[in-house]
Amino acid sequence: MKPIQLFEPLYRTEECLDELRPWLDKGWTAPGELTQRLERAWTEYTGLQHALFTNSCTAALHLALTVLRIRRGWQDGDEVISTPLTFVSTNHAILYAGLRPVFADIDEYLCLDPQSVRERITPRTRAVMFVGVGGNTGQLAAIEDLCREHQLTLVIDAAHMAGTRFVQKLPGRLTHVGVELGGSAAALAYSFQGVKNLPAGDGGMLCMREPEEMSLARQLSWMGIDRDTYARTLDPDAKYKWKYMVPHLGFKAHGNALNAALALVGLRYLDQDNAMRSLIAERYEQRLGTYSVPVAARCSSSRHLYQLRVPERDRLITRLNDRQIYPGVHYASNQDYPLYGQQQPTPASQKAAKELLSLPMHVKLTDDDVERVITAVEAEL
Ligand SMILES: *Cc1c(COP(=O)(O)O)cnc(C)c1O
Repeated sequence: MKPIQLFEPLYRTEECLDELRPWLDKGWTAPGELTQRLERAWTEYTGLQHALFTNSCTAALHLALTVLRIRRGWQDGDEVISTPLTFVSTNHAILYAGLRPVFADIDEYLCLDPQSVRERITPRTRAVMFVGVGGNTGQLAAIEDLCREHQLTLVIDAAHMAGTRFVQKLPGRLTHVGVELGGSAAALAYSFQGVKNLPAGDGGMLCMREPEEMSLARQLSWMGIDRDTYARTLDPDAKYKWKYMVPHLGFKAHGNALNAALALVGLRYLDQDNAMRSLIAERYEQRLGTYSVPVAARCSSSRHLYQLRVPERDRLITRLNDRQIYPGVHYASNQDYPLYGQQQPTPASQKAAKELLSLPMHVKLTDDDVERVITAVEAEL
């Protein structure tokens, strides 16, 4: 029997090669025209103002928090309220920036619960990190209100949210996250890692609202150097091509032209691929809906994940594995890792972490594959 994997990226190989070829021929794989085209395409697609292509979403989150810390004068150990139910990148990034992650609990959407966030606010709280788990917008609107009320900075880990939309005010009008809902976020970080909705091998996109913060992030993304190599090398007007200044201790976090080429092609298909994911989700929903994690009202999720909550999760996964079906778990509660152990209890996330499983979700799934997954879950539940 053919194994059915949780994720399987689909690359349009010929189109990717067409984008890549001229740059490989030129011998230019560094940031430049392709990364700039991708950044422009991303701002056009999302309606967000600024975008910086990074080598990962982790790097984007790290840059975002570092920049916010510098520009907003945050101190060592200042607090960022975050979720324990996420990929560790989210919380590692907070630690990288010398800040302290404080876990709040989650809601039925597996996203931050505004009430719990409110309870965790202290005089040292500077920011809230919201993760749109699986592409869900959860209670982001309430989190935004809370941030406004307490003058906290909002950062969105949008690793799962490429293409997620939220219907706002005008009935039927689709609005991109970041324009209306999420519009007050200081930073959004997307992932183009190989199993995300817009796979580009690796890569991420950082969108910061304040132009000065975005431009500092750009400098920090290449060692803190104040001019990029492209400007110094290929720009015919650039004088003193060899000269640059290093005002900041930066990082090696920028994306390159190879990943940008894959992302440019992927972006052309993002909505189409997400629509395909939605169809798969609808089929799961029809038969397994009583077990599924709900999507927030008015959210058109990217459907990065389709998650169930079941009582004997580990047993179910083993049984599905016996049938060559390989679901995933998103996520273990980060509190279970020693690095994040010193936290107040978050019972809802702890409970969810024991019950969650993610069904196979990718655009290479056939109708038969989906049927096989559903039948297997029905039989084993
Ligand atoms: C994948 C993921 C990241 C990290 O993305 P990379 O591009 O691999 O660095 C961050 N947060 C969440 C929620 C993720 O799923």
